[in-house]
Amino acid sequence: MAVSSPVIRPAPPQVRKTSVYDNVVRQFNRAADLAGLADNTRKILATTANEIVVHFPVKMDDGRVEMFTGYRVQHNNALGPFKGGLRFHPAVDLDEVRALATWMTWKSAITNIPFGGAKGGIQFDPAKHSPAELERITRRFAWALGHNIGPEYDIPAPDVNTNPQIMAWILDTYLSSIPPARRAASLHVVTGKPVELGGSLGRDKATGQGVLTCIEEWAKDRKFNLAGATYLVQGFGNVGSWAARLLRARGAKLAAVEDVTGAIANPEGLDPDALTAYVKENRGVYGYAAASPVDHETFLSTGADIFVPAALENQITGTTASLLRVRLVAEGANGPTDPYGDIILHKRGIDVLPDILCNSGGVVVSYFEWLQNKRSEAWDLEEVDRKLQRKLVAAYCQVRDAAQKHDVDWRTAAYIVALSRLEKVYAGRGIFP
Ligand code: NAD
Repeated sequence: MAVSSPVIRPAPPQVRKTSVYDNVVRQFNRAADLAGLADNTRKILATTANEIVVHFPVKMDDGRVEMFTGYRVQHNNALGPFKGGLRFHPAVDLDEVRALATWMTWKSAITNIPFGGAKGGIQFDPAKHSPAELERITRRFAWALGHNIGPEYDIPAPDVNTNPQIMAWILDTYLSSIPPARRAASLHVVTGKPVELGGSLGRDKATGQGVLTCIEEWAKDRKFNLAGATYLVQGFGNVGSWAARLLRARGAKLAAVEDVTGAIANPEGLDPDALTAYVKENRGVYGYAAASPVDHETFLSTGADIFVPAALENQITGTTASLLRVRLVAEGANGPTDPYGDIILHKRGIDVLPDILCNSGGVVVSYFEWLQNKRSEAWDLEEVDRKLQRKLVAAYCQVRDAAQKHDVDWRTAAYIVALSRLEKVYAGRGIFP
């Protein structure tokens, strides 16, 4: 199909800023009831362990000083050190970070890796700052967090609007704050680093790879052929663009994409590799020549087999869930579906691969990076991919079996798997004193 360049810039989709943590509490309570979680464990897991809020000054390029607010919420470390990403976004607040930290605890438990859950971020728009300002903001935040992070205590990683370069600045700032003799043994204070600085091969694509693995397992179970299947992706950053490219490599066709700059569609299929290159140059999908611009509602109601939300929370809601015309929602983003959206998807018979399972590939390869740093090893890509595949297939099967056993939706099943693992730890260790 010949498609002309878009001329009208569509209004960017709005993020509804309702409480994300409320969603977590509802999901948790439902699963805890069904799993018969012991009251004492329930009280502990229903609460975050530590909530750190830092306000810090940063010098701008023109000499002015601006104040910034950053967060680190540590939800739980019963299974291992606190672990979770850092987000740079104007909508970051304590409520959102609490929710994201809690989901990290469940994710580590489901994939059976020795980590707890944490998350953090700074409330600001990085697009409004020069690279030099971004570096100073990042370093000053890392400095303000001080020893609230550490290689055996709390390990940040990339999330929305953060990347390996930002992890490198955090690493350098942290290492500068500890005695020289401990520096070489502390590279694992952050994961998602550039490979040359101790990052793992395969970390970049890990979350998208995990999304693909979960979709492939679902397709096997449903006897569904991915070759020729169609899919939509919301968010075309790390997770969305990798999921799109890897699905294309399995023969599926990308029908429409939306990011913060707008939505585009092409019924003949979009080329995810070319679009990735375009987004790198132009900071968004808007204006990509081989597609037509569409509005948010048209994007959501595009008929396809699979929808991969890979942007922000609360996108599939009581209002928008009825627009979707897909068989499967594979959650690359954290919290893209709110509890009302979940009810509608369930009623409509649309399968959901929940975030805490579907996007857990990132934290699994972060764990591999952490292990490689601790052991001074560098695994090849084939080894990373193979180990990731094994972990995710095992997690997928456990969630699927729990859904059958308890006759519940997959999100609740994923929670049940996580909660029963954590409950065993508390039952064994007891509560001090
Ligand atoms: P990213 O910054 O690389 O990309 C974010 C994408 O979302 C961009 O394309 C941006 O334009 C788009 N976006 C932002 N606001 C939007 C809006 N209102 N509507 C539509 N699109 C919008 O971030 P990422 O690392 O790809 O993370 C995306 C999601 O995946 C987040 O929910 C994140 O928590 C989750 N996640 C990321 C990882 C990881 O390893 N990076 C791991 C697990 C989960």
